Amino acid sequence: MFKKILVANRGEIALRIQRACRELGIKAVMVYSEADRDAKYVKLAEEAVCIGPAPSALSYLNMPAIISAAEVTDAEAIHPGYGFLSENAGFAERVEKSGFQFIGPTAESIRIMGDKVAAKQAMIKAGVPCVPGSEGELPDDPVQIRRIAKSIGYPVIIKAAGGGGGRGMRVVHTEAALINAVTMTKAEAGAAFNNPAVYMEKFLQNPRHIEIQILADKHKNAVYLGERDCSMQRRHQKIIEEAPAPGIARKTIDRIGERCVAACKRIGYRGAGTFEFLYEDGEFYFIEMNTRVQVEHPVTEMITGVDIVKTQIMVAAGEKLPFTQRQIEIRGHAIECRVNAEDPYKFVPSPGRITMWHPPGGPGVRVDSHIYTNYFVPPNYDSMIGKIIVHGDTRDQALARMRTALGETVVEGINTNIALHRELMVDAKFMAGGTNIHYLEEWLSHRER
Ligand code: ADP
Repeated sequence: MFKKILVANRGEIALRIQRACRELGIKAVMVYSEADRDAKYVKLAEEAVCIGPAPSALSYLNMPAIISAAEVTDAEAIHPGYGFLSENAGFAERVEKSGFQFIGPTAESIRIMGDKVAAKQAMIKAGVPCVPGSEGELPDDPVQIRRIAKSIGYPVIIKAAGGGGGRGMRVVHTEAALINAVTMTKAEAGAAFNNPAVYMEKFLQNPRHIEIQILADKHKNAVYLGERDCSMQRRHQKIIEEAPAPGIARKTIDRIGERCVAACKRIGYRGAGTFEFLYEDGEFYFIEMNTRVQVEHPVTEMITGVDIVKTQIMVAAGEKLPFTQRQIEIRGHAIECRVNAEDPYKFVPSPGRITMWHPPGGPGVRVDSHIYTNYFVPPNYDSMIGKIIVHGDTRDQALARMRTALGETVVEGINTNIALHRELMVDAKFMAGGTNIHYLEEWLSHRER
C-alpha cells in the first residue's frame, strides 16, 4: 500500500480523499491555490503545497506544478478527484512517466472514453446498447448526412465527439434545419474542443438519466455497484441524485450492470468508472463513460456500504477488489442534494464569506463539505460547496430524512440553492419518483416565487 498520496484537487472532494487516506493510514499531501489557502483540508493536512494563483489554469490545471509538488513531498501516487485534470489522458501519462501511480484508469482508457465516437464504438463492440445513430463521425457530404438522419428518424441530436459538460449538442427536428445545424455544431466543436468531429443520435424525448457505477482492479476483476438516477438536472447539470432508481426492476439493472462489467474486462479498465445511460421505455442507451470518481458517488456508498474512494486507492496500489459481485448487496435508499453557492431562483453564483454554517445531523445523514463558519467561498471555481446525503430503509424514509436535514441546515452570508431543494423534496411528482431529464426545467418554468 502507498505511504503517501498527493491530492490534486480542491473543495469537498479533496477533503473526501483526505478522509479516505486517513482511514487507510496513508499520508495525504494537499495542494492548493492562493485562493484556497484557508481551506479546511489544507489546515488539517500534515503537508500542503501551494501550486499557484487562484485561476485554475495556473494552479489546479498546472501539470508541472502538481508533479513537482509530488516530487518534493515524496508522494507515490496522485489522486485527481473529479473535474480539473481527472479525465486528461496527457496528465495521466505525465504522472506515470514521472514515476508516480495515477489513481485512475490507464491513459489509453481515458483517451478512448474522452472521444465519444471512439467510446460508442468500443461499447457497441462490447455489447453495450447505445442510442441509435450514425456509425462514427458524420461525413461531409450533405446527401449522406440527410440519408443518415432519415434512417435514424427525426428528431435527431448532433453531438461533438470531444464534447463535455453539456456543451456541443444541437437538437434537429426537421430535414430543413439539418445541414445548417451540423455545420454550426462542427464550427463550435472545433473552436471549443479543438476537434470538429460530430456524430448523430436519435433524440430521445422523455428519457431518464441512469448510470452504473463500476470498480475494477488490475487482476481482471470487476463489479458493478448498482445504479444511480441523476435525472434531476438543470442545463444538463445534475442537482439531485438517488440510488436505487425508483421503479426499475433489479433484474433489469443486473442485466445492464453485467454488460458494463463485461465491457470493463474487455477494454482492460481499472479503477472506478461510470457508464451513463439514457433510459426510456424499459431500454438502456449508453451515452458516455466517466473515467473517474463522480460527485454523486456517496449515494452508492450509502446503499452498498462500499467505500469507493478507498477502493480506488487500493486497486491503484495493485490490490485485488476486496469483494465479489455476489457480496454486493443493495440496502435501503439514498438521496443526495448538491448545495451550490448561488441564488435559488436566478442561479447566479454567490461567492463570498459564510457568516454562519450549521450542518444537519442525525440518523442516516452524511454531509460532505469543506466549508465552515467564516469560510470565504472563492469566486474562481465551481459553485458547489457541499453535498447533503441521506439514507433510509425506504425511499419515503430517505425523503423524510432529507426534508429534516434541509430544515436544520443554516448557511448565512451567501445565497445557496437550499430553498430549491426544500421545495423539490415536497413536490408530488418528484416524491412519486421516476421523473425524466426534462422535469426539473419544466418545473422551474412554472415555479412561483
Ligand atoms: P456531456 O458529456 O456534455 O455531459 P452527454 O452525452 O453525457 O454529454 O449528454 C448530456 C445530457 O444531454 C444527457 O444527460 C441528456 O440530458 C442529454 N442528451 C444527450 N444525448 C441525448 C439523446 N440522444 N437524446 C436525448 N437527450 C440527450
